[in-house]
Amino acid sequence: MGVHARPVERSWTIISGQFVRHVLIVLMSTPSAVASTIPGGSFLLESRSPAEIFTPEDFTEQHNLIGQTAEEFAQNEIIPNIEKMEHKDFSVSRDLLKKAGELGLSGVEIPEAYGGLEMDKVTAAVIADHIAKYAGFATTWGGHTGIGTLPLVYFGADEQKKKYLPRLASGETVGAYALSEASSGSDALNCRARAVLSPDGKQYILNGEKMWITNAGFADLFTVFAKVDGEKFTAFLVERTFPGFSIGAEEHKMGIRGSSTCPIILNDCQVPAENVLGEIGRGHVIAFNILNVGRFKLGAMCVGGARSSLDHAIPYAKQRKAFGKVIGDFGLVREKIANMAAQIYVGESLVYRTVGMMDSALAAVDKSAPDAAKKTLKAIEEYAVECSIIKVWASEMVSYVVDETVQVYEAGNERTVSVDACNQAANGRSALRSFIE
Ligand SMILES: Cc1cc2nc3c(=O)[nH]c(=O)nc-3n(C[C@H](O)[C@H](O)[C@H](O)COP(=O)(O)OP(=O)(O)OC[C@H]3O[C@@H](n4cnc5c(N)ncnc54)[C@H](O)[C@@H]3O)c2cc1C
Repeated sequence: MGVHARPVERSWTIISGQFVRHVLIVLMSTPSAVASTIPGGSFLLESRSPAEIFTPEDFTEQHNLIGQTAEEFAQNEIIPNIEKMEHKDFSVSRDLLKKAGELGLSGVEIPEAYGGLEMDKVTAAVIADHIAKYAGFATTWGGHTGIGTLPLVYFGADEQKKKYLPRLASGETVGAYALSEASSGSDALNCRARAVLSPDGKQYILNGEKMWITNAGFADLFTVFAKVDGEKFTAFLVERTFPGFSIGAEEHKMGIRGSSTCPIILNDCQVPAENVLGEIGRGHVIAFNILNVGRFKLGAMCVGGARSSLDHAIPYAKQRKAFGKVIGDFGLVREKIANMAAQIYVGESLVYRTVGMMDSALAAVDKSAPDAAKKTLKAIEEYAVECSIIKVWASEMVSYVVDETVQVYEAGNERTVSVDACNQAANGRSALRSFIE
């Protein structure tokens, strides 16, 4: 078996009502059930044995413990604060990101050398799955730990990582990713934002505007894409406090209203030359790789969101009465619930099968080697087909499950739909749509 023991003693906090129980666990890197590295896309061409396929039944004690931590964090910390986040009290979102950081839920993909926990991708998926109970905060957390942090993890220079990653891992600094513009969304390389090196060579002067930036209302650090001299597409690490950087008004979205989405304005924004991320003219490598690595985690969030939706639908169907019996006794409603469960099962299987394969491939990467980040990205890229399938399928799946949940509620009386369920329904759907770049 692909078990690679790397015992690290760490104090892990479990929330139970409040932050009360502290347990010391021995963390081992992922014991993968996958015996050998499976080529990406090979499901079309080769047969695999059951022992090679990773499923939730292969979770270790560590995976279950972290899953429980994320679950209790969602139940005890996120859900009671939904109303505040829906009304755009983003001080709550910031506090929650800090709490998530303290619990180690935001640093699993950050190397230990930079304040993270450097755990396997199964762990990253387990956390995403459990934390995605409320789409508003799931978007905030996903934006911060994914597109807001991973550009630095995979492309940052040592000094940049030392400067920013520890505080991103702890949630003291909030990250965001600014690629889209009013006239360049899917066609991201067509961006208009410009960067010019100052005459003394010490800084780049950025001009332009970015649109629909998740977490922009309160984030501290932005990965901003602009073209140097109007040609060379490049990524920059831009702090909120840099001169010439400002934030536009919050968008009024149809869903995920508990997440912040704003434009950012670059008006002769002064960015130190050492804050170029990666190489000048190679910003596209960062932009597209980061979107690729985010896909499996998006899938895990879809599964978690859909499961949460079903958790609302079933008790309602069991207690709501119509025509003298509970609506869960009607064949049509039972069929909805059965189909929702079946689709969640498929989504869950897709996600964990893929992350299991990834971890098996990643086990061969020497984490201490200078090219570790590059090799890690390469190993993940091997499963680009599976990740794209997950992204498309799981986002459609959660839309379906949320729609069916609303139908189950509407089978009684539309007015009885609880605020929570409604938010989860609308937000879940929109949140996931919003990730379909
Ligand atoms: C809530 C929310 C949060 C967001 N957060 C961020 C963020 O944090 N950072 C960031 O940089 N961006 C963010 N975005 C922007 C998001 O990435 C873009 O909305 C997305 O890239 C799509 O771009 P667009 O909206 O301009 O649509 P367009 O690119 O204009 O596409 C419009 C339609 O045309 C279709 N289309 C486009 N090109 C083709 C083609 N070649 N063939 C067929 N069909 C095509 C698209 O599929 C779509 O249906 C966010 C958006 C939302 C809604």
